[in-house]
Amino acid sequence: MAFIEALTCRECARAYPAEALHVCDYCFGPLEVSYDYDAIAAHTTRESIAAGPRSIWRYANLLPATNDGAVDLGAGFTPLLRADRLAAQLGLGELWIKNDTLNPTGSFKDRVVAVALARARELGFKVAACASTGNLANSVAAHAARAGMKHYVFIPANLERGKVLMSAVYGHNLIAVEGSYDDVNRLCAELASEHPSWAFVNVNLRTYYAEGSKTLAFETAEQLGWEAPDHVVVPVGSGSQLTKIAKGFRELARVGLLDGDPQVRVSGAQALGCSPIAQAFADGSDYVRPVKPDTIAKSIAIGNPADGIYALDEVRSSGGAFAAVTEGEIVEGIRLLARTEGVFTETAGGTTIATLAKLAADGVVGRDERVVAYVTGHGLKTIEAIGDLGPTATIAPTLEAFEDAVDLEGDD
Ligand SMILES: *Cc1c(COP(=O)(O)O)cnc(C)c1O
Ligand SMILES: [Zn+2]
Repeated sequence: MAFIEALTCRECARAYPAEALHVCDYCFGPLEVSYDYDAIAAHTTRESIAAGPRSIWRYANLLPATNDGAVDLGAGFTPLLRADRLAAQLGLGELWIKNDTLNPTGSFKDRVVAVALARARELGFKVAACASTGNLANSVAAHAARAGMKHYVFIPANLERGKVLMSAVYGHNLIAVEGSYDDVNRLCAELASEHPSWAFVNVNLRTYYAEGSKTLAFETAEQLGWEAPDHVVVPVGSGSQLTKIAKGFRELARVGLLDGDPQVRVSGAQALGCSPIAQAFADGSDYVRPVKPDTIAKSIAIGNPADGIYALDEVRSSGGAFAAVTEGEIVEGIRLLARTEGVFTETAGGTTIATLAKLAADGVVGRDERVVAYVTGHGLKTIEAIGDLGPTATIAPTLEAFEDAVDLEGDD
């Protein structure tokens, strides 16, 4: 917090004070947090970070809030796993999985919510709120409970059972809206102006919220021994996470934590049933045409993505690509990651793995690259997506029954 200079309009560069503002009054461009990078560089070393907490807060100097413990559930510092078996299957070389299924509520949203609500408390808000595709509601409800804040979280009514339950368990209020996420988001924009004393983490607090995703880049670099990867593959809903991962690597170089000027290629993963940004990429267009989502990857089913053009820019300027995958490929991505690496992800993670497979097959991701795939949510959240998996066999409790049922060839 000490290092924020201002909020700055991404389009016209006008400066604003660091309050609960998210759009420019003049041009309606989104606001970004600007920092005093020289001061951060003077106060931050690899050693000071290593001595910090094992959570996102080890990078507090590069975040727009201070952790006083009230909201903290321990988000971040999730494992970066070398994935040699998956790499071999996909014909890749050095592949890593950032396992963000292991956050407090099972998705990367805990990073952005921890930052947004820490900032909301500093600004005096008492009520937390959000428009959610599912995981954000889980995370806001949990962090609000932890902080003793009231909450209102809004979701599309057709969400997976696991995500509904995982929001409801933290108490009132969970509001299911008959419509898509884009309908929920429109309603929440109205509610945010009706109730300016509520901290809508992804509406009036969005500028701060978005910054939490930078920690995915910070951790990746630190876990690679303070080196940047060559190529990252990121699942894309609104596009916020992808743009902030790219910003995160640049910031590390700016404050001297990474040597040189890291050239990280950034690629985006979407489900074919909701792929407005991948479509714009394929068309060579600068306009992201809104779509009506229809996919099992509900956590990234945003038909009118707020950061779509910025995500498109990041991908194009870094030499990455967008791709979109079918429902069947998403399910196969989930099962492939589980079988080869022991990580069970939800449909957004399946989308990432399936997209990685496609980009590898197309030669967009190279065998000579150090690749990181972001696996952003836990598989138990979307069990209905993977269909009817069950036991290899169901047997009577006898040796004979077991030996009849299973082929033991070579297993002794
Ligand atoms: C929200 C979400 C995303 C997409 O994040 P955006 O910032 O909206 O692009 C990806 N994966 C999971 C699991 C999510 O919940
Ligand atoms: Zn502006």
